[in-house]
Amino acid sequence: MQNIRFSKKRYIHTLIPWVTQKNNNFLKIKNANDCFFYTEDNRKIIDFTSGLMVVNLGHNNKYIINGIKKHLKTGISYTNSKFTTNHREQLSDKLINITKFKNGKVFYTNAGADANETAIFIANEYHYNKGFTNKNKILSFEKSFHGGSTLISSLLSGDPRSDNKRKFYSLPINPIMENPSLDDKGYSSLKQIHKLFTLNDDISSIIIEGSSGSAGCFLYPPNYLSLLYQLCKKHNVLMICDEVMSGCGRTGHFYAYMDSNIKPDIITSAKGLTCGYSQLGAVIINENISEMYNEKPFKNGLTYFAHPLSCVVANKCIDLYLENNQEIIKNAYLKGIFMNKLGQEIAENDIVNEYRSNGLLGCIELNIKSKKVLNKINNELLEENIFCFMRENYIFTAPPLTISLNLIQETMDKINKIITNNYIYYRY
Ligand code: PLP
Repeated sequence: MQNIRFSKKRYIHTLIPWVTQKNNNFLKIKNANDCFFYTEDNRKIIDFTSGLMVVNLGHNNKYIINGIKKHLKTGISYTNSKFTTNHREQLSDKLINITKFKNGKVFYTNAGADANETAIFIANEYHYNKGFTNKNKILSFEKSFHGGSTLISSLLSGDPRSDNKRKFYSLPINPIMENPSLDDKGYSSLKQIHKLFTLNDDISSIIIEGSSGSAGCFLYPPNYLSLLYQLCKKHNVLMICDEVMSGCGRTGHFYAYMDSNIKPDIITSAKGLTCGYSQLGAVIINENISEMYNEKPFKNGLTYFAHPLSCVVANKCIDLYLENNQEIIKNAYLKGIFMNKLGQEIAENDIVNEYRSNGLLGCIELNIKSKKVLNKINNELLEENIFCFMRENYIFTAPPLTISLNLIQETMDKINKIITNNYIYYRY
């Protein structure tokens, strides 16, 4: 093998998402187990946001790892989509069973963004094939996130992370709506959407996170999803539930929308579907939509469609989610209530606007804008061996569902202390 001469600072050759590339300092991860990372310099760091709300079942899960090892022994590294495997078939069956999308179908992608991209394509094609050729607009919400690696997913939402993409492409901008407010029980949001639906006949679908995630975990008013769903049905608009972050048990339901009495037309799933042991996205479509492809070809595809290893991993993860009548998911709901109680204590702090959470998907919203103080808090969390995904003035709390109550308590207490100390620093 040819020798490669490594540069002294090897890390400088990786382009890191979402940050300036200068002066980044990375801790090097050596191994991981359940809720913890271990670094090369022997630090034990709690992964309090499951990576990026991915590792719902914790790191180093033996059941998943044994499944991977067993699969590797079959020698199947890749299969053309013209062939099938037991694992692909089982996975689709499981997802159709869980969603009760009888006679529906599942399409597989690499991740969440391309799952959403595909969902939009399918929704627009559905209307087109039904003769509604002008229905191609997608409504999305200001405080939402649907992906950053494809163009359409990036443009879905008013989240500042999409601003940069908008600068370079003159695509029609889809209407972006204000988030529903708890104060008026979502009334003005529903009124606005009703008006849009009534005045425009070109709206194809609405995309909404099953429960708001990295845009700030904004809570929907009770019944909001049900009322929105009814509006969609009345106006022939498809409802796409993005369950990429909120799905796979995170909110105490297999998919977060399952807390409401709705049946979305399309569901997108990723992250916790494989818990990061490999990567996979899924687009689950109901029977009405899937039947259009019985006669017409589905003109969309990707090399790594239903990657065999990822299907194995997803099957293993789903086994664990469903084990003992979804025990882990039901416990996540209870652990979420406990985490919320501690979050409300943190929210009593003067530099905290609010703590919001649904199950184990939570966010501390600080009322500080100073980058210097936010960086200081971020650094102090790491110094205390806590990894929390932080974005702008948000600190997310979304540990693996396997976490113990003690560990939630210990970590939230440490976060509280850091925030309290920074209030003193900020004030004086
Ligand atoms: N949808 C939601 C709700 C997300 O939170 C994310 C990523 O965080 C995505 C889609 C994009 O997923 P991916 O980064 O796997 O493409």
